[in-house]
Amino acid sequence: MYIDGQWVGARNGSTREILNPANGEIIAVAAEGEAEDARLAISSARRAFDAGAWSELPPTERARLLFAVADRLEQRTEEFALLETTSMGKPLRESRFDVADAVACFRYYAGLITKPMGQVYSVADPVQGLVVKEPVGVCGLIVPWNYPLLMSVWKIAPALAAGNSIVLKPSEITPVTAVSLFEIFEEAGIPQGVANLVLGAGATVGQELAESEHVDMIAFTGGTATGRTIMKAAAGNMKNISLELGGKSPNIVFADADFEMAVDYALFAIFANQGQVCAAGSRLLLEESIHDRFVERLVERARQIRIGAGDAEGTEMGPLVSEKHMEKVLHYIELGKREGGRLLLGGQRLKLKGLENGYFVEPTIFTDTTADMSIVREEIFGPVLAIQTFKDESDAIRVANDSDYGLAAGVFTSDGAKALRVVKKLRAGITWINTYHNTYNEAPWGGYKQSGIGRALGTFGLDAYTETKQININL
Ligand code: NAD
Repeated sequence: MYIDGQWVGARNGSTREILNPANGEIIAVAAEGEAEDARLAISSARRAFDAGAWSELPPTERARLLFAVADRLEQRTEEFALLETTSMGKPLRESRFDVADAVACFRYYAGLITKPMGQVYSVADPVQGLVVKEPVGVCGLIVPWNYPLLMSVWKIAPALAAGNSIVLKPSEITPVTAVSLFEIFEEAGIPQGVANLVLGAGATVGQELAESEHVDMIAFTGGTATGRTIMKAAAGNMKNISLELGGKSPNIVFADADFEMAVDYALFAIFANQGQVCAAGSRLLLEESIHDRFVERLVERARQIRIGAGDAEGTEMGPLVSEKHMEKVLHYIELGKREGGRLLLGGQRLKLKGLENGYFVEPTIFTDTTADMSIVREEIFGPVLAIQTFKDESDAIRVANDSDYGLAAGVFTSDGAKALRVVKKLRAGITWINTYHNTYNEAPWGGYKQSGIGRALGTFGLDAYTETKQININL
């Protein structure tokens, strides 16, 4: 852990073994912090913020250091990608994209913070008004295991750019790239106490961050149930709050879509990162007339996905992140069968040669689903696709919106006007037309309904880490 500019273990000496999900082997031993360690990190962040060594630096100076962080991270791309893959499971080529995205995210916010952010307004003379943006203070950042590095950077980059001090808590099962990132902060010269890293469980370290009256903002990415707990804990001192939660995103394919392109993206939408993506297209909505032909091609293509260790050449799908998570995914598959879904493909754990202890699950596709089934309603967070059908445009919108979640949605059609009509009716924060999973630092990321509160990335993402003050001057 990195607290107040020092590398430290847990005060009570606890550790946790970090496993490679492709083979179950131990790859690292991490500190397992407790609430007390979180309190030390919070105090350190508080002192650094109040001292102003970061919060009061000119934005160009903060930008200079964040650009230096980006450069160092870029130089170590291969090392970070390999760490991410061996601790989390995703194919190496996906990890490389994540590192490149993280580098770009630091650069985006380093650039953005040097641009004017306030406003000037005129009211009744002689008063002149100004609106200024200021850092919120101490930000607790809690992130999940599916993009350990990138989800951390989506929060750290805007929080630091805006002048806040931070305490990061990665997922307890995937802390390794966060540790390396904090080495870079130290080398780049981020002032002591500004950036703190505490490792440990959600119920202890995470809960302390969410509850502490010395934390001004909590930014959380993770499951909706955890988000609810955090929101309650954060209510004590009315923290600013940003919640990026789960999804059950519909990917709608109309009969007039480019067929092969829609098949390609339907596979990518659900099987990228083994389906462990908040915005995964886990519900495929097919226009009735193309169902049979589409499903046949989809299954044929899904059979060809190359499954293996993330760091093996040519792997397209790796293992799930942990044994516990694999059991959860397999449980949903059983539920899907029991509730009457028709299993078209997969459904089993895979014991690959030489990787018998790995947490591999076959690409799994269900059709003939109904709106009340668990596999249609609940976030599985694995390589499990539920196919639904619709009759026409308005039916597609109805089926798509029939969810507690509202994170993302895809629409495939060759009719541009129809595509726009449909996305405007979808209750989702991120929509894609004839594409899927594109993520841009410039564009706001977040969900409607139970998929979250607030937006990450873009100018919205920076705004989230600032307070807004009006200054009225009697001239
Ligand atoms: P999770 O909610 O179990 O855990 C996320 C983080 O919260 C971890 O660091 C965990 O230790 C911590 N935590 C757990 N209980 C806590 C508590 N009581 N108080 C404070 N912190 C606590 O989620 P996960 O299984 O790690 O990740 C998967 C989830 O993340 C999925 O639901 C996925 O949709 C979501 N996610 C959302 C986005 C998005 O942008 N909307 C992006 C990635 C992942």
